[in-house]
Amino acid sequence: MKIIMLGAPGAGKGTQARRIAGEYGIPHISTGDIFRANIKDQTELGMEAKSYMDKGQLVPDELTVKILLDRVAKDDCKNGYVLDGYPRTIPQAEVLDKAVTELGEKIDYAINVDVPDENIVRRMSGRRSCPGCGATFHIEHMPPKKEGICDTCGKELVIRDDDRPETVQNRLKVYHEQTQPLIEYYNKQGIVKEVDGTKDPEAVFNAIKDILGA
Ligand code: AMP
Repeated sequence: MKIIMLGAPGAGKGTQARRIAGEYGIPHISTGDIFRANIKDQTELGMEAKSYMDKGQLVPDELTVKILLDRVAKDDCKNGYVLDGYPRTIPQAEVLDKAVTELGEKIDYAINVDVPDENIVRRMSGRRSCPGCGATFHIEHMPPKKEGICDTCGKELVIRDDDRPETVQNRLKVYHEQTQPLIEYYNKQGIVKEVDGTKDPEAVFNAIKDILGA
């Protein structure tokens, strides 16, 4: 099962992608997480990606496409994967389609987690992330059990640089210009499934399970 998560930054794609991965036993692949791991390790890729991420811009396709193709070629992706944050541009989608088609396979679902812009801005200001395992929380909607501490790995939660209000506005602009056209792109393939991302995470996940089946 190959699944793509679509939706604005902060729509809850990451949270749902992680749950899908757990439920269906497929890897969760987040290009954002891969970039953040590289930033943490101070690799060359990380340093270059950071200069774009901190401004709310997209990392150029040349860098992004390669890390994604390397990742989906790994053994654990044989039975499928859930992509979170990739593709973000039409050329990225075309590269993925080509790679998948060459293997005689296809993308099964593009799940669009739909949330209006006004909700996004409110949500992202409350988002807290774990620098250790990448888990995300929200101070109102999905608080950690212990304030400021990751439920999963016990590290102190942080506000990601790219979740700061000035960056959020820019990320939304970039989303509408470059990423939203992917809904139409995958609609043409007949694989888009819409879910209402304004509902609570449990309800959103139940809607996704109804789509994906047992
Ligand atoms: P995310 O964790 O998916 O919200 O990604 C955080 C940031 O990483 C984005 O705002 C981009 O700067 C960068 N990024 C992640 N995935 C991609 C991608 N597929 N293409 C370009 N930039 C990306």
